[in-house]
Amino acid sequence: MTAALVDGTALAKSLAAAVAPRAAAVKAARGRPPQLAIFSAAQSREAKAYLRSIEKACAGVDIEAATHEISPSEGQAEVLRRLRRVQADPRVDAVLVDMPLPGGIDAEAVTAAIDPSKDAEGVGSTNLGRLFAAKSYSEIRDKRIPVPCTALAVAELLRSTKTPLEGRRAVVVGRSTIVGKPAAHLLSSLDLTVTLCHSKTRDLPGEVAQADVVVACLGRARFVQGAWIKPGAIVIDAGTNDGDGKLVGDVDFGPASQRAGFITPVPGGVGPVTTALLLSNIVTLAEGRGR
Ligand code: NAP
Repeated sequence: MTAALVDGTALAKSLAAAVAPRAAAVKAARGRPPQLAIFSAAQSREAKAYLRSIEKACAGVDIEAATHEISPSEGQAEVLRRLRRVQADPRVDAVLVDMPLPGGIDAEAVTAAIDPSKDAEGVGSTNLGRLFAAKSYSEIRDKRIPVPCTALAVAELLRSTKTPLEGRRAVVVGRSTIVGKPAAHLLSSLDLTVTLCHSKTRDLPGEVAQADVVVACLGRARFVQGAWIKPGAIVIDAGTNDGDGKLVGDVDFGPASQRAGFITPVPGGVGPVTTALLLSNIVTLAEGRGR
């Protein structure tokens, strides 16, 4: 291995340590901690474990998290009714809808119903619009826009390498609304020159080979090959896939780490930073609500 590991667990710890006093200040000012409402249909063992990890992370910085389970038999109208009722409660600062939702429930309709002032993951069109309208990374921060947490984790891990980024080439593989597109915009706001690739990209190996920064967020286990990586490139892997019973990323880690200058591990890279930035988003929303 020649690449330096970009340690997501350490970055997540320092981010959470910065959130804790802000959460405490909110509690001191109004006599109750920041409060998150989670709507979740988590059925699988992995989905339940993910939910528990969010609840545990919230507890670790004294954010109150209440989970509202969505049953597989529940209709869309009922989910929307419950979501609207819960987020109308002035004690609730932030709402997170855990995806995927059961079949028959339109994820877009549910996302659209999230109150923009309580949108913990910044996934509604109002907050995405604010994000895409912002011209620079500092503007995004100054305006306290809740940003989709995985995309922001990608940018923060990249910044943590302390490598000069201005004018360098980045390739983002995956163009989903919650990961790839906002990640590409954040990288552009950091003055990288960004190419956004997807399943119809003609020559993905050729695109990746030109990149000083590679962001993999396509959801295919070990798909991005080590041989594609430009020597010395920074590789940020947002993938979380089942690879023969263990969690693996979208990048073929072993060969890629022989060529990259920096690389994030999976697990221990983007995942923990995503959770820490969710905590930060929740406290930012709570701070914005006053008492
Ligand atoms: P998604 O909605 O399924 O989007 C996948 C994207 O990848 C699409 O834009 C798709 O292109 C593109 N793609 C698929 N196959 C491709 C291929 N062979 N070549 C090039 N592009 C390809 O996935 P997502 O929700 O963005 O998630 C992406 C990954 O991030 C997944 O592994 C997910 O588990 C992970 N994730 C991690 C976290 C975390 O906390 N670490 C959070 C969220 C997601 P088209 O648009 O052309 O279909």
